[in-house]
Amino acid sequence: MVCQRFLILLIFIVMPTKPSLYQKLNQSLPKLFFLLILFCSHCAFRPSGNLGHYNSYFPHENLPNPIPKGKIRATFLGTTSILLDDGETQIITDAFFSRPSLWKTAFSKIESDPSTVQSVITKAKIDRLRAIFVCHSHYDHVMDAPLVAKQTKAKLFGSSSTLNVGLGGDLSPNQMEKFQPGKPVQIGKFTITVLESKHTPPFRIFGKTNATDPNHPNIESPLSQPIKATDYIEGGTFDFFIQHGKNKILIKSSTNFVEGALDKIQVDVLFLGIAQLSLQPVSFQDTFYKQTVQTTKPKLLIPIHWDNFFKPLSEPLEPNLQLGDDFESNMKYILKQTEKDKVEVQLLQGFETIDLF
Ligand SMILES: [Zn+2]
Repeated sequence: MVCQRFLILLIFIVMPTKPSLYQKLNQSLPKLFFLLILFCSHCAFRPSGNLGHYNSYFPHENLPNPIPKGKIRATFLGTTSILLDDGETQIITDAFFSRPSLWKTAFSKIESDPSTVQSVITKAKIDRLRAIFVCHSHYDHVMDAPLVAKQTKAKLFGSSSTLNVGLGGDLSPNQMEKFQPGKPVQIGKFTITVLESKHTPPFRIFGKTNATDPNHPNIESPLSQPIKATDYIEGGTFDFFIQHGKNKILIKSSTNFVEGALDKIQVDVLFLGIAQLSLQPVSFQDTFYKQTVQTTKPKLLIPIHWDNFFKPLSEPLEPNLQLGDDFESNMKYILKQTEKDKVEVQLLQGFETIDLF
């Protein structure tokens, strides 16, 4: 709507008003071109949806403290960072908290911000963290994991690429463990099984793509910050199947799937990455939904990786930018499908918590 108003304003600014129309129009062309670019950027850097439309999907609850016995509490910390806490043990995925600005990410080297990371650790009450599981080694997942591991003494679990980010962050090899997909890992009462998965299909912005170079699929040596965002190579993508007593959770960060990989898995709660879902062909969207939600049959689905991670966590989360996503259409698709399948959907704001069981 705002974009439309902006466009009308531009037309008024550049419209010739006197009879010598063609001459005027000719003079106006450079101005028109400039304003058109301004208009396009104005729209591209706006959130791709309005959270106000989804108010009823946020729990807006004040949960009791300490966590009641038998409950598992999840706290959403933006992108695909999810803190799980059973009152005794905490585990987290990714732990990406620094969230450098778009400008900084695009034009300079980036690094973890210790004071931001510490403030998130304090605000989210991360004080019993035992393990960090990193879903892949792009910067918006792995960048802060070594620092969070250092500050909390938690163990870092990841691919060989993630462990190279850990080594570059001076993390001791004793504090790291390489993923062994399919082999369960016990952390307190949590049993985590790492599953091979697939990254969201690559995209291109301003001529740059995030596709993995097949000749360099991994981070091969210790990666020290500060470093360019593009130096964080994917290094494989993984899902996390988490069991706690009789309760089952799947955390799936990327919007993609390995055909049949979840066939033997059913869960109570599915954290589902929805970034760029509606930008894919309809056939992809349908197969993705079938291979994830319809296969694992969750009672509750919590969309993740929907927020603009160029904004700090200290501010309310906003949907991804129009530049690379369409939150409104992603949610429309998910809500339409889950309504048919009678799956409950909940969204979480930054630092918002929910008792899953
Ligand atoms: Zn990625």
